Amino acid sequence: MIPASDADRVHVRAPGKVNLFLEVGAAMPDGYHELATAFQAVSLYEDVWATASDDFTIEVTGSVDTSGVPLDDRNLALRAARLLARKTGQAGGVHLHVRKGVPVAGGMGGGSADAAAALVACDALWGTELTNAQLHQLAARLGADVPFSLHGGTAVGTGRGDELSAALARGRFEWVFATDAEGLSTPDVYTELDAHRERRRTDIAPAPTQPFVDPDVLHALRAGDPVRLAACLRNDLQAAALNLRPELAEVLELGESAGALAGIVSGSGPTVAFLCEAPEAALDVRVALAALGRDAFHAHGPVPGARLLPA
Ligand code: ATP
Repeated sequence: MIPASDADRVHVRAPGKVNLFLEVGAAMPDGYHELATAFQAVSLYEDVWATASDDFTIEVTGSVDTSGVPLDDRNLALRAARLLARKTGQAGGVHLHVRKGVPVAGGMGGGSADAAAALVACDALWGTELTNAQLHQLAARLGADVPFSLHGGTAVGTGRGDELSAALARGRFEWVFATDAEGLSTPDVYTELDAHRERRRTDIAPAPTQPFVDPDVLHALRAGDPVRLAACLRNDLQAAALNLRPELAEVLELGESAGALAGIVSGSGPTVAFLCEAPEAALDVRVALAALGRDAFHAHGPVPGARLLPA
């Protein structure tokens, strides 16, 4: 007989992401920025198991340091479960077990992946059977990166990054992610970007009024060409993240001199992503980073979005 814990438990896996391109517009009156970004989902995963319960509770474990993850209603996975219950009139609660494989506060959308996974897991557990469009709508209410974690693959995001359209990507891209022991707060990085633009307003280009993704990025993805993609990686948040964490410049330099095609700060950082031509080059980059005392993970993209796995 199948143990009750396996039979009654739903398992969903959702990926972390890297922004291949991120152009950030000027701050809007509500403090948010209009973005144009190209995301790729990568093979660092968050696993979420959902079990029916009277209440809403969570436990968090993982292969990364989980000490910065809130265990109360600030946790995005719990907020996702409560939102779905409210919207569908679900009477009961859920116990969520989150196993994190994406660095916390690392600019790789780990919390967003937990929220996407919790939505899909609770939808299956409670049999609420929402459409993809309904799930997407709830995801966008939880955070700008949550819809992408549902979607997965490679996509262009506009608006706050939550208006998605799929981007065709051929083949498999090899990445090395160099993590930092201490995370960076996404709002702090945006504030620093605004200040940076203000300080240097005479000698840097102003914030674009209508951000857009460079077509070269889409051509490189369609061609499955990492060399071409490396030439057009861009992240407007990188200068701000480097101001807040100057030692990242050394990490970028080291990865590139160890054979990466290009390095870029991932999202709001402080994780640094290195695009490599082949798995062998990725191994060289990892070894070089380890010698500097940096934890680094080899991953690939694109991978699918949040999906149910067998219990
Ligand atoms: P962002 O999606 O804002 O770019 P990030 O990818 O840099 O964020 P996350 O790991 O998502 O980083 O965490 C950002 C912050 O969100 C954490 O410092 C934490 O306080 C809070 N948080 C809420 N829920 C979660 C969760 N399930 N996992 C991790 N952090 C969470």
